[in-house]
Amino acid sequence: MVNFWSAVFVLPKAFYAKVDSLCAAFLWKNGTSSARGSRVSWIDICKPKYEGGLGLRQLEEFETVFRLKRTWSFFSEPKSLLSRWLKNHIFYRNGFWQIHESPRLSSTVRSMLQLRPMLPDLMRCDIGNGKVASFWFDSWTDIGPLIEIAGDSGPRSLRVRKSAVVLDATSSGSWRLPAARSQQMQTIQIAITAIQPPEASNEPDRFLWRRTPDSFAECVLCSTALETHHHLFFECSFSSAIWQGFASQIRAHPPADLHAAAAWILSSSNRISREEVTLLKLIFQSTIYLVWKERNARIFTSVSTSSSGIHLALDRLLRDRLLSFPASPPAGPSLLSLYFASYRPP
Ligand SMILES: [Zn+2]
Repeated sequence: MVNFWSAVFVLPKAFYAKVDSLCAAFLWKNGTSSARGSRVSWIDICKPKYEGGLGLRQLEEFETVFRLKRTWSFFSEPKSLLSRWLKNHIFYRNGFWQIHESPRLSSTVRSMLQLRPMLPDLMRCDIGNGKVASFWFDSWTDIGPLIEIAGDSGPRSLRVRKSAVVLDATSSGSWRLPAARSQQMQTIQIAITAIQPPEASNEPDRFLWRRTPDSFAECVLCSTALETHHHLFFECSFSSAIWQGFASQIRAHPPADLHAAAAWILSSSNRISREEVTLLKLIFQSTIYLVWKERNARIFTSVSTSSSGIHLALDRLLRDRLLSFPASPPAGPSLLSLYFASYRPP
């Protein structure tokens, strides 16, 4: 709940402190009233395990993360209601990068604007049709925001407006740049010409979040494509092998797309038994869980499990879960025996 609201609004610091104190009370007293008399301070408990804590998160410290997440949502989900509302009713023509931080803006919007200096290090833009990325302020070349190199006179020297998008610097599919008259302009032009000029027929520009010091949003499971929700579930060769490997044992040709797969399971009731549909649902949920867990393990702990390891883990998870289902009356086969009848371990 805290995460949900924090993704949308700036919440008062006192709110985070209160939730932290509720968590402390729950940990020490199994209640919500007070953690008075606790032997270890909440700050120490929230330290990482290797520093002697329990590795819990202190919500107050997460406030910046929530602010970054809001800002990231604004860039990465341009069609969301919040993004469109901010663009059309708050930022107007100045856009996110140029609007002044004034008291008339809400504290939520100001909290996003305050992060502007941090963003070039964390976010970059992959140019598609060039209609969204800011030419001067977004990081879309290898040298970061061009305004930082060109300075305030840059827009005049390069004859590109300060509020221009990347597409504005092209004409008929090529870069439209005047002769470079200074070292900085030369650096900028070299960086720009290394990038394919945008074309109106391309996909929209895409914002990427930094994953490691030198990688932006590459899929950690297959390392061959950008990680998107659509790619992970289940366009990715790693995750689709798991999902399709298990699901196809119950019904042939499972689709390699999350939404299509969900619809396929729902429509399966005409073709296969109710118990088999239940099995498919369980395989679907468990695959998503394990793929997501594996993705996080690779990013946050640098520990990776092979595809066959995930196969075994999924098999184990399914057996454990199915064991808890009783046989369907009267004395029909249990879901577990149905699973054993369908699935042959590799
Ligand atoms: Zn992948």
